[in-house]
Amino acid sequence: MVVDNALAHFRASTAAWLEENCPEPMRGAGWSEDEICWGGKRWQFTSDAQRVWLERMAAKGWTAPRWPTEYGGGGLSRAQDKVLAEEMARIGARTPLERIGLRMLGPALLEFGSEAQKQRYLPPIVRGEMRWCQGYSEPGAGSDLAGVQTRAEDAGDHFVVNGQKVWTSYADKADAIFALVRTDRDAPKHKGISFVLIDMESEGVSTRPIRLISGKSPFCETFFDDVRVPKENLVGELNGGWAIAKYLLTHEREMIGGGARGLLGGRAISSILGDSGIDDPVIAADALRTEVDTLAFGLTMERYKDAAEAGQGVGDASAMLKYAGTELNKQRYDLMMAAGGSSALTWDGEGALAPEWLRTKANSIEGGTSEVMLGIIARRILELPA
Ligand SMILES: Cc1cc2nc3c(=O)[nH]c(=O)nc-3n(C[C@H](O)[C@H](O)[C@H](O)COP(=O)(O)OP(=O)(O)OC[C@H]3O[C@@H](n4cnc5c(N)ncnc54)[C@H](O)[C@@H]3O)c2cc1C
Repeated sequence: MVVDNALAHFRASTAAWLEENCPEPMRGAGWSEDEICWGGKRWQFTSDAQRVWLERMAAKGWTAPRWPTEYGGGGLSRAQDKVLAEEMARIGARTPLERIGLRMLGPALLEFGSEAQKQRYLPPIVRGEMRWCQGYSEPGAGSDLAGVQTRAEDAGDHFVVNGQKVWTSYADKADAIFALVRTDRDAPKHKGISFVLIDMESEGVSTRPIRLISGKSPFCETFFDDVRVPKENLVGELNGGWAIAKYLLTHEREMIGGGARGLLGGRAISSILGDSGIDDPVIAADALRTEVDTLAFGLTMERYKDAAEAGQGVGDASAMLKYAGTELNKQRYDLMMAAGGSSALTWDGEGALAPEWLRTKANSIEGGTSEVMLGIIARRILELPA
C-alpha cells in the first residue's frame, strides 16, 4: 500500500505540474506530423509554445522519463512513466520531442556506450539540442542489413569511412548519424561490422534528398568520401556492431509498432466516425472491431514492456509488435478512408487524411518489412524449421 500511495501522490503532483506547465497550444487533438518537434542545432520552433514545452519537459528530464538522472533523464520507474503518459494523454499533451535519438540511439548508448559517450551524447538528446539520423540501409543492404558495404579503414587514431547509405530519414537536417560500417572484409558478414557515430558536418559527408510523389523529401541518400571519424566514436567493440544494431532495431520496431496504439493524432476512431455521421452498419462494425483490436494491442504492448522491465528492450517480440502494430495502423486508416468517402481524398489542409493514409503504407517497410518480421517470428519465436 505504501507503493500505491507513493504512486497516487506522484500522479497528483504530475497532473498538477502538467496542468500548470503544458502550454494550451501544446494540447488537444488533431495535430499532424509536420507539427512534431524534432530538435537539433538547426531546429526552428514552430511556435513559442513548442519551445517552452520542450524546455520545461527537458528540465525535468521528462523527454526521456526512464533514463537515469545523471544523463539528464527523469529517473522514473516503469510505473511512474506509465502514470506520466496517462496524465499527458488525459490533457491531450503532445510529445515534446521526437525521436531517433531518444527512442533508438539513446537506449543503445545506455546499453553499449562508454561512460564518456553517455555523458557526451545523452544530455543533449534529452534537451533536444542534437538531432540524429540512422545510417543502416544501403542500396544493396536493406532487409539483408548485414550486407552493408560502407567501409571504415583503420588509420591510427581515426577511421576513414567511404560508402553510401540510402533512405536516411532527415539526414539533411540531422547533426549526427549513427552508422553501420564494415571494419573487417574477411570475416563472416555479421562479424565484420562496427557501430560508429559520425558528425554530419565532417568533411566528406554529403546528402541528397530523395523527393517523393507527395512533394516531400523525408529521406536522403548519404555519402561518405574519405570521412575522418575519431576512434572514440566507435560504440562497443570493433567488429561487434551487429549486436548493437539488432538491439537498436528492437527499440525501433517497438517504437514504430507502438504508433498504432490508442489514439490517432489524438482522435479515437469511433469519435471520428461519429463526427462524420456515418451510420453504415458494416463500417460501424469494422470500426468497433478495429477499436477493440487497438485496445488489445495496447494491452499487449504494456505486457511486453512490463516483462522487459529494467530497460532490456523486448527482444524478438519487437518483430511481433512491429508487425501487428503497423498492420493494425494501416487497417485503421483504410477504415477511415472508407468512411470518409470522396471527402477523405482531400490532400491539403488541417486534418487532411489522404497524406497520413499514404504514410501508413511505409510503416510496414521502415525498420524492417512485414515479410521480414514474419520470418523472424517464424524462426525465433515459433521456432519453425527453416
Ligand atoms: C519511411 C521510411 C523511412 C526509412 N528510414 C530509414 C532510415 O532513417 N535509415 C535507414 O537506414 N533506413 C531507413 N529506411 C529503409 C528501411 O529500413 C528499408 O526500406 C527496409 O529495411 C527494407 O529494405 P529495402 O528497402 O532495401 O527492401 P528489400 O530488402 O530490397 O526488400 C524488397 C522486398 O523483398 C522482401 N524481402 C526481402 N528479404 C526478404 C526475406 N528474407 N523474406 C521475405 N521477404 C523478403 C521485402 O519484404 C520487400 O517486400 C526507411 C524506409 C522507409 C519506408
